[in-house]
Amino acid sequence: MLAVSSKNDALPHTRVRRTSRLYRSPAWGVADQPDFLNAAVLLETALPPRELLDELLAIEREAGRDRSAEAVRWGPRVLDLDILLYGDRRIDEPGLRVPHPHLHERAFALVPLLEVWPEATIPGRGRAREALDALGAMAPIEVEALG
Ligand code: AMP
Repeated sequence: MLAVSSKNDALPHTRVRRTSRLYRSPAWGVADQPDFLNAAVLLETALPPRELLDELLAIEREAGRDRSAEAVRWGPRVLDLDILLYGDRRIDEPGLRVPHPHLHERAFALVPLLEVWPEATIPGRGRAREALDALGAMAPIEVEALG
């Protein structure tokens, strides 16, 4: 995320509209690992979703991520770039699902998303704000803004 936001030309045919703060949350999935840091970026792009995903995966590789060497799913990783939403589109293709299938159940994604796009709607599920409220009703939201 930082690579995307600090270099406006990192993605072709794309403008960075808003960048959230950085958020820290307890590691998820595999608990015995350092905290996660998350941020969201609101982009305006002429790239179709699949090309955008390919560009994001290339940025991950440039950052040193090697998926083939990751023994543990949801374990520590250098960088993980996800397309949370693409406007109001719904996409379900091999290797590309939008909205991100777990967005509505992950406060660490919803909190930064709402900072850059307070009115965001998760197609098929309703408002992102309401998804976060529902999570907060079940358990405390442990997502802390840094700076
Ligand atoms: P993960 O290891 O959990 O980060 O999964 C990344 C893989 O999920 C990528 O190789 C993509 O092909 C796939 N994927 C499916 N939907 C998305 C999405 N909305 N954003 C990013 N990756 C996605």
